[in-house]
Amino acid sequence: MQTNFTLAQLADPDTAASEKILRACVHCGFCTATCPTYVLDGNELDSPRGRIYLIKDMLEHDRPATADVVVHIDRCLSCLACMTTCPSGVHYMHLVDHARVHIENTYDSPPFERLLRALLAWLLPYPQRFRLALLAALPAKPLAPLLDAIGFKRLAAMLRLAPWRGPQRPRGPQTFLAVGARKGRVALLAGCVNDVLAPQINAATIAVLTRHGIEVVLAKGAGCCGSLVHHMGRDDEALAQARANIDAWTALEGLDAVVINTSGCGTTVKDYGFMLRTDPAYAERAARISGLAKDVSEYLVALPLEPVQDLPQLTVAYHSACSLQHGQRVNRQPKELLAKLGFAVKDVPDGHLCCGSAGTYNILQPDFARRLRERKVGTIEGLRPDVIAAGNIGCITQIAAGTKLPAVHTVELIDWATGGACPPALRAS
Ligand code: SF4
Ligand code: SF4
Repeated sequence: MQTNFTLAQLADPDTAASEKILRACVHCGFCTATCPTYVLDGNELDSPRGRIYLIKDMLEHDRPATADVVVHIDRCLSCLACMTTCPSGVHYMHLVDHARVHIENTYDSPPFERLLRALLAWLLPYPQRFRLALLAALPAKPLAPLLDAIGFKRLAAMLRLAPWRGPQRPRGPQTFLAVGARKGRVALLAGCVNDVLAPQINAATIAVLTRHGIEVVLAKGAGCCGSLVHHMGRDDEALAQARANIDAWTALEGLDAVVINTSGCGTTVKDYGFMLRTDPAYAERAARISGLAKDVSEYLVALPLEPVQDLPQLTVAYHSACSLQHGQRVNRQPKELLAKLGFAVKDVPDGHLCCGSAGTYNILQPDFARRLRERKVGTIEGLRPDVIAAGNIGCITQIAAGTKLPAVHTVELIDWATGGACPPALRAS
């Protein structure tokens, strides 16, 4: 695609990176077929190609974002299915990230929208605040249908996603020693919502790693990966959260990996090198941390895992989170691990399409998110599985809100098969 940026514009490293991406696009439109929002509404402006044109026009003319641009960029899930499909290697993720920052800096959004985003950015990355918010949401949960009916769809979406049981206290920094001879040492990103919403995921991750000789460290000072605010265009906050994690993990000696069990976070940590490439104090360490980042399935696949208990013959519908399959190109490892441990694994039809979770998308875009969830749940239930497995807490929460089937993290099944406890969602079903 031909571009018309001035030399002065190209002096900005973000604009220079976006220009390179735009030039790679040959507007063939292959990406439209796999874009969830285009599949839902058939609007070219809700397709990757349409959004690329909108972003190009906005950046080239260096003008504030318009309401029309914001509508279509906000509807983008950042699922990155378009990147998997694109034959020209267009790095849509970096382009839309840049566009979101431009929108955040130039668009005067309505006061309620600004307030809601500020609230989410203040709440979600901080486990203690998030826990208190969930406690407050518990008694209000039954009001979700009423709020929906009178038009407060986003509040209703938040209440629906809150669990019925009380939230847990997040784990503090600590070290979990390897069982037997130590064969490795990793930092685990505990995540900002994982411990509060589903502490069994980190518990299973720690159990399976330590049982196989890997020491696990929850580093002092590490916190949210930054992706929640990054996807809202709040760059300063996202970079501050990234720097805090880099400081925390580089202070640890002898790490083999930074293990991440929430694939949305994994995609962001693997991008720290790019996000901080122009920061002389962090560029090198950020690139090193990105190089060390591994999804838990990528790390576990290299360990000699064997089933040690006779489990019931279970059919697992494996939902491949977008951030794992498109963002990190991790496809085979989770399924290989489950199959090796005795589970019958089924791929979900149209598995390239997002479930509608996408960070805060299911709160900010409740209608699109609901339609994507209904579609996803329909394809999953058609497989008649015993259990749904996914590698991302966002997908697990989103899908579980639309089905009676138990939904668990892949690592919970791996831990169970290798000697750990049965996942709570399976015990309850
Ligand atoms: S598939 Fe790639 S090159 Fe083709 S329109 Fe989409 S982004 Fe551009
Ligand atoms: S990231 Fe997903 S929703 Fe956004 S344009 Fe690409 S395929 Fe469509």
